[in-house]
Amino acid sequence: MPEGHSIHRIAQQFNRHFVGDVVAVSSPQGRFAAGAREIDGRTMTEAFAVGKQLFLRFDEHLHLRVHLGLYGAWDFAGEVSAPRFEGSTVADDAEPSLSSIGAPRLTRLRMAEQEDERGLDLSSFPPDPVGAVRVRLLTETSVADLRGPTACEVIGPEQVERQLAKLGPDPMVDRGRAAEDRFVANVSRRNVAIGQLLMDQAIVSGIGNVFRAELLFRARLDPHRPGRDIPEESIRELWRDWAKLLKRAVKVGQMMTMDGLTPRQREKAISTQADRHWVYKRQGLPCRVCGTHILIEEMAGRNLYWCPKDQT
Ligand SMILES: [Zn+2]
Repeated sequence: MPEGHSIHRIAQQFNRHFVGDVVAVSSPQGRFAAGAREIDGRTMTEAFAVGKQLFLRFDEHLHLRVHLGLYGAWDFAGEVSAPRFEGSTVADDAEPSLSSIGAPRLTRLRMAEQEDERGLDLSSFPPDPVGAVRVRLLTETSVADLRGPTACEVIGPEQVERQLAKLGPDPMVDRGRAAEDRFVANVSRRNVAIGQLLMDQAIVSGIGNVFRAELLFRARLDPHRPGRDIPEESIRELWRDWAKLLKRAVKVGQMMTMDGLTPRQREKAISTQADRHWVYKRQGLPCRVCGTHILIEEMAGRNLYWCPKDQT
């Protein structure tokens, strides 16, 4: 499932290439015909993400809310900002900039859990919708096709507020001490394993399976420890680390969770998942720090990876 950084990058794509334009909205598959009619021909005024939810605002305060779920994907074509992974030597803690997802070019790009650039046949724009396209958003220069989302609806401002109220803080949106305090309050009273709390979008927004495992390893925290047994300072550090990793992932387009890499290691980590993480999908392999075999178990319905020696 795409984690928070993917949805923020999708919002950036819409901000760059759709916001300010009149958008022709249709449902080639037909399942979203009524919703498409409500926003067809309106101007997109803003795109933003909170956690794993994307909100596209159109004039008269109508919003298209999309949650990709496990299988959803956006396919962009025409004028698109495609990622450039090679030579991304920007300092890890620099402010994320739009240029980090590359200069606009005419291409085709799938944005889901991974980003995958494909060639574009420039002779025909827009390309014909392929397969079950729930929604097509079309401007004069760009097109976005949505497939397989778990949520896709047109809602008004009150419903947007209701959706946002259900979500825990997202460090890309909620900055400063108040957001950190909210996270601390959400975690510290709970007699629930921290490995479960991090996956609960009402506690904190945007963390999925990769970031859960990696954040807990970086903090050397046992995933089974209940929130209320974790010292407040450790909870605060967990939030700050999440903010740092999320910002980095929004910029780079990959979940880079290891620090201090040489340029060559960094290049490998960007291109190969096996070289990218501390514990995620490394079950049975020796821990990169202590050599103990990394364990796998199920928690909150997803596979959890952790080191039983380092994480206590
Ligand atoms: Zn270890």
